[in-house]
Amino acid sequence: MQYINTLFSKQRDFYKSHQTRNIKGRLILLKKLKAEVISNETAILEALKKDFKKSAFEGYLSEVGLVLSELDLTIKKLKSWAKKERVKSALLTFPSKDYIYKEPYGNVLVIAPWNYPFLLALEPVIMAIAAGNTVVLKPSELTTNTAAILTKIIKKVFPGEVATTVEGGVEVATALLEKPWDYIFFTGSTQVGKIVAEAAAKHLTPTTLELGGKSPCIVDETADLKLVARRLVWGKFFNGGQTCIAGDYVLVKAPRKEALIQALSKEIEKRYTKNPKSSEDFPRIVNNDHLNRLINLLENQTVVFGGDFDESDNYLAPTIVDEPDMNTPLMKEEIFGPILPILSYSTEEDIRKTIAESSRPLSFYIFSKNKTFVDNLLNTINFGGGVVNDLLVQFGNPRLPFGGIGTSGMGSYHGKFGFDTFSHHKAVMIRSTWFDPSFRYPPYKGKLKLLKKFLKYFS
Ligand code: NAD
Repeated sequence: MQYINTLFSKQRDFYKSHQTRNIKGRLILLKKLKAEVISNETAILEALKKDFKKSAFEGYLSEVGLVLSELDLTIKKLKSWAKKERVKSALLTFPSKDYIYKEPYGNVLVIAPWNYPFLLALEPVIMAIAAGNTVVLKPSELTTNTAAILTKIIKKVFPGEVATTVEGGVEVATALLEKPWDYIFFTGSTQVGKIVAEAAAKHLTPTTLELGGKSPCIVDETADLKLVARRLVWGKFFNGGQTCIAGDYVLVKAPRKEALIQALSKEIEKRYTKNPKSSEDFPRIVNNDHLNRLINLLENQTVVFGGDFDESDNYLAPTIVDEPDMNTPLMKEEIFGPILPILSYSTEEDIRKTIAESSRPLSFYIFSKNKTFVDNLLNTINFGGGVVNDLLVQFGNPRLPFGGIGTSGMGSYHGKFGFDTFSHHKAVMIRSTWFDPSFRYPPYKGKLKLLKKFLKYFS
């Protein structure tokens, strides 16, 4: 793919010209991007609707709105984030002035998924540009309408040598991954994350991998079931359940299981009516393959609510499954759709055992009023990020890092964490010349004892 080589060389040459180091220039671009997102708001929301019937409300809340607030924060803070930081010098190296420079990596590749196709494509681009890099963005090939609007906006705002999109599927992504990028930011499945990591390793390219997994949701005997049902139904069925940080399954204290299922069923009907297919607010599955994958997950399961689907419309109803076997695909794979399995537990040990069946989760949710129980779990279970008494909302605070652990990802972003992700922290020490005792220079004879004393004193 010759055009990828040409594009890469163009961005490489531009980076070498040092023009991206100009903070004012970065701010001009970010402000231009903000104006362009605002003027395309209707078109973006329409594209999301065309791609998987995402409502304008969810589209604004979880895509356009978050992009705009990330832009606002970055525009406001960029100068302070990018400033070289003075740190205290060490007594051992006195006298010196010590700094951390925030240096761009260079040429960045961003590969985005389809589930929040606008947000998860643009947010890393904003951060990479803010930190002074050039960017090639490959949006998902499954959400073509959103990919087209992303291309339109990026083309309008950025010269091609600064940022551009390359649309396409696996073949294009594979060709892009062959280039020696200075940083790769990937959001997608764990399976493809491994392919990206392998390609990056060939050039020792650093990566951030924002991946998926099975995120548990614990409901104990003290939780207010009405509130649990309201927040759980919202967090699970938002975006049609196609959210990396959605609760994948529920673990509820055994005696409360029936009451929880009742409360959830009632809540689903209240929010999406008795026929969610006719609700304007309930999105579709992104394509037929994913719909069939989800339908297959329901095979041999006890469906206690929902379960109906329509292949002609990529529709799957909000669905509740009672006590699935841990060895079935439903409990082995990330669900990534509107199916909510409910499992019961008796002891804290049961919770730990169930969670240990999958890899380290991206998110972890606990509904409880028992502080000791909550603290025990928070302090002993490895997960990317989590919330007590709610779902998804951790994404909304840019002062919290967002990222996974183990197979749910590596690295993080949002707010300053995003700027830091795309910046190399370069250590620089400026030594004074007026003081230069001869002690450190050879011959060393007779100096070792004194050295030991000196090091002990200053450590
Ligand atoms: P995916 O891994 O199938 O695709 C993601 C991107 O990778 C797409 O742009 C795709 O074209 C590209 N790709 C696919 N195959 C490739 C290959 N062989 N080589 C190189 N690139 C390839 O993921 P998806 O279906 O778009 O998204 C769903 C997954 O993403 C879920 O697992 C979800 O949990 C995860 N996800 C994670 C986050 C997060 O922030 N951690 C956010 C959203 C989605």
